[in-house]
Amino acid sequence: MTPPIDRSHTEDLLAFLRDGSSPYHVVAEAARRLEKAGFTELGASARWTGRTGGSFVVRGGALIAWYVPEGAPPHAPFRIVGAHTDSPNLRVKPTPDIGRAGWRQIAVEVYGGVPLNTWLDRDLGISGRLTLRDGGTTLVKIDEALFRVPQLAIHLDRSVNEGLALDPQRQTQPIWSLGRPEQGALLRRIGEHAGVEPEGIIGWDLMLHDIQPPGLLGADREFLVSARLDNLISVHAGVTALTAAADHWTRNTAPDGRFRVPVLAAFDHEEVGSGSETGAQSPLLERVLSRSVAARGGDGEDCARAFAGALCASADMAHAVHPNFSERHDPDNHPLPGGGPVVKVNVNQHYATDGTGLAAFAAACERAEVPWQRFVSNNAMPCGTSIGPITAARLGVTTVDVGVPGLSMHSARELAGAADPGHLTRALTELVTTG
Ligand code: ZN
Repeated sequence: MTPPIDRSHTEDLLAFLRDGSSPYHVVAEAARRLEKAGFTELGASARWTGRTGGSFVVRGGALIAWYVPEGAPPHAPFRIVGAHTDSPNLRVKPTPDIGRAGWRQIAVEVYGGVPLNTWLDRDLGISGRLTLRDGGTTLVKIDEALFRVPQLAIHLDRSVNEGLALDPQRQTQPIWSLGRPEQGALLRRIGEHAGVEPEGIIGWDLMLHDIQPPGLLGADREFLVSARLDNLISVHAGVTALTAAADHWTRNTAPDGRFRVPVLAAFDHEEVGSGSETGAQSPLLERVLSRSVAARGGDGEDCARAFAGALCASADMAHAVHPNFSERHDPDNHPLPGGGPVVKVNVNQHYATDGTGLAAFAAACERAEVPWQRFVSNNAMPCGTSIGPITAARLGVTTVDVGVPGLSMHSARELAGAADPGHLTRALTELVTTG
């Protein structure tokens, strides 16, 4: 029998999903939770010295956080949870105010692998980061129905049910008013909302989001439906696991010397290949962890030992078997919502899991008393990937790719089991504390 749904965990996750409309908002909320748990933000340019306890570094849409238990030697091995803060969406172009045929529209670019049909006829808000003339940045979020990408009426496209193909340039531009386009109109609205002069806004990283709040669905409300389940379920699980591990180390010591340094690495830009200064291909994680060893008086040898004994669980959404397309899945591995986190295997290294990593995660699930499942692709289907193989290749660390199984991955509104985020969190807590 599977354990019951932890409804308080679900409620907390729903709030996290609602708040995290852009990677910058995800990081701000994660930082707020870490500070509340006693973690301290470190400046990347400052000198770090002698820190035990919880610390974190923010860079754009990425956050690296770790906890050093009192008495842990500099070579104590890392226990890393990896995740990503970004989700596929529509992002505002540099000259946003456009229009055609009497409509005012916003020019958007498609970010990542977006099933474009899922963004049609949704009421969209806007959020992101503004960079000001003085070099400062500020977050902005308008959680109101401002925009819509309207579907073409079926009378004007009788073949729509034979397959909808949208031109990403011409047919994805949202409407938001009537009249001639007026340059500066969007920034004026954004500036008003953020309380800054529009002339003071020099740069922006703005994106659209569905304003329908996250919720529960199903006969027994056993499903979770929301935007950005991929991958905010994992970021939320990682933050919660790290603060739980910190709490463990404030109350316990390691009499046998088996100290662990739990780490959360939440990267940006996974959906576009991770090749950025804040993506998993960047030196960010390696640099931060190396500096954390040096700050405690460790040398190069200590650092090499901390990495050599490290373990990384890369947490990202997984595919549950789809009842209407079950032939697209492997016939013998059918993960279902509610069955616990999934361990993802691909021998061609689209996932980094090997037998050793799988065994470590399975043991953590067993200790946490949560069920777990296996995923492997149908050989005739392309396989997704995540930050797991990138982190494994960059750091040379044993890595296991895991995640909560769901349907409609990358849709504007995805679905997962309401019990699984709690299961994943408990397994990750166990892995980073005693794994
Ligand atoms: Zn993902």
